[in-house]
Amino acid sequence: MVSHQIRPGGGGAQLCSPQPEGRRVSEPRHTAFGWLWRGYLKPHWPALVFAGMLMAIEGSMLGFLSYMMKPMFDSVFIAGQSGALWTVGLGILAIFLIRAFTSVGQKLLLARVASNVVFKMKTRLVAHLMRLDTTWHGRNPPGALIERVSNDTGAVREVSNVVITGLGRDVVALISLLAVVLWIDWQWTLVALIGTPLLVAPTLLAQAFIRRTAMKDRQLAQHMSVRLDEVFHGINPIKLNRLEDYQSRRFDGLAAERRGTEVRNQVGRAAIPALIDVMTGIGFFAVLIYGGREIIGGDKTVGEFMSFFTAMALAFEPLRRLGQISGVWQAAQVSLGRVREMFDVRPSLTSPAAPKAAPAGDIVFDDVRLSYGDAPVLNGLSLTAKAGETTALVGPSGAGKSTVFNLLTRLVDPSSGQITLGGTPIEAIGLPELRGQFSMVSQEALLFDDSLRENILLGREVPEARLDAALEGAHVADFLKDFPEGLESPAGPRGSSLSGGQRQRIAIARALLRDAPVLLLDEATSALDTKSEAVVQAALDALSQGRTTLVIAHRLSTVRNADKIVVMQAGRVVEEGTHDALLARGGTYAELYRLQFAEEG
Ligand code: ADP
Repeated sequence: MVSHQIRPGGGGAQLCSPQPEGRRVSEPRHTAFGWLWRGYLKPHWPALVFAGMLMAIEGSMLGFLSYMMKPMFDSVFIAGQSGALWTVGLGILAIFLIRAFTSVGQKLLLARVASNVVFKMKTRLVAHLMRLDTTWHGRNPPGALIERVSNDTGAVREVSNVVITGLGRDVVALISLLAVVLWIDWQWTLVALIGTPLLVAPTLLAQAFIRRTAMKDRQLAQHMSVRLDEVFHGINPIKLNRLEDYQSRRFDGLAAERRGTEVRNQVGRAAIPALIDVMTGIGFFAVLIYGGREIIGGDKTVGEFMSFFTAMALAFEPLRRLGQISGVWQAAQVSLGRVREMFDVRPSLTSPAAPKAAPAGDIVFDDVRLSYGDAPVLNGLSLTAKAGETTALVGPSGAGKSTVFNLLTRLVDPSSGQITLGGTPIEAIGLPELRGQFSMVSQEALLFDDSLRENILLGREVPEARLDAALEGAHVADFLKDFPEGLESPAGPRGSSLSGGQRQRIAIARALLRDAPVLLLDEATSALDTKSEAVVQAALDALSQGRTTLVIAHRLSTVRNADKIVVMQAGRVVEEGTHDALLARGGTYAELYRLQFAEEG
């Protein structure tokens, strides 16, 4: 059974509401178009005004065309004036030439505006999403966010292609055609519009249906992206556990549901132009019966009737397109709403308004508490890591060791208590500056699908000599000589072309270049075999020289030489001291050490 419950009107099962811990924005709410206009379209107003003028000219040409039918029939065909033949012929030619040029011009302008707007929305959204809290990202899967950035922003293109063009050109066309028909006979006009009231209720129903199916379609698209992201990131475990069929079934279930939703959405969109067809049919029929009699009776000329009839026929396409607009707009509103929802989330972890400089010095946690929901993670944790020394955090899994790092780097803020760096509370330090104080090396180094050089430099400019020293210190030079392309070798997606130990060494080279005063090591060597571990450990020792180092280690043998070992259990410190002192004490550490010693034989 595929589980992807969709809540109507809200986020899908996997995308939580945009604002759990973040603050809601208190700005007045604008309509979707108002929001789009203020944030994105307004700077392009000269291009839009010019495009609007071109559209108006293009649209009004239909009115002129239908008007030309009267002289064509009455003066040329019926009265036989050969001079009028040229005037009418050239007039019609001019109408089409003007239409051609104005149409290309307005499309060009609008395409440029739309591309600029989509570009700006995407880049702003990505920058915004990167600023949101870690806890928020923990609840919102990457696939869902990718879908919003990649596809929901594209709604702007439809708005520009269909809605703006339609409103600019087709409305003008209809007004000019209406002027012609009213000029010929206002009574005929009323007769032609006889079917219009029939249109209202079904159109409203169709619009609601389109909105509903569009919402569901976007949610299903998002679920599919989440699944794909999980599948391709977890491709090896999927293969090893033979989960291909299971994953295929889950994906196929979503794809099949989306197929149905898409079809229903398209049917809804087609319904409105179809209703307009029905209305126009009724109008034509009524005018023919009513107006035909007047012509037979000699009250009206054939030319007048032809002008009227042409205007009605020409009104048909713009009307149908305007019918489509409402459908497109409904669907685009859904997508724009989803983009806007993301912008409404505000990070709760922000930089102080008047940031203090980050001083060097001891790191102190004072009675720090933290809960995730109702689950307490840290229960009054107090510890000091002296500047320039190595402090190790040990303890069972789940004790809260990594959480200490997350708090220190302000990926999360504590529920209560204080954390200071060199005596300054960390929340008083500018966020970028605070994070600049730390280099982190963890179990899994994050490598990008780029060259090794780019992975080490990360956009920085560094003198070659310094880079070489970092490569040497991190023992990257040792394995680099086996790579024919050297530093230009590709790392592969997530660094898949390198071994675990090689990835770690790249991370250490980065840290050496970064030269931050505090080093955070989170089980940096625990995933490595003994040989790689020895090399990586040597590189880490070089890196920790002269730096305040906090190290989380599972294997206690790696922290024997630490200046201080802090033993954590259930979110608080239970013991601290040097290796020898803790062993002599015969408490938790001694027990952990004895157990590991027995395990490792
Ligand atoms: P350790 O590093 O000692 O193994 P952690 O600091 O990673 O422990 O985690 C401590 C506790 O916090 C664990 O019980 C874990 O389930 C919980 N925890 C960590 N991160 C989150 C989170 N984002 N949401 C909810 N609980 C979390």
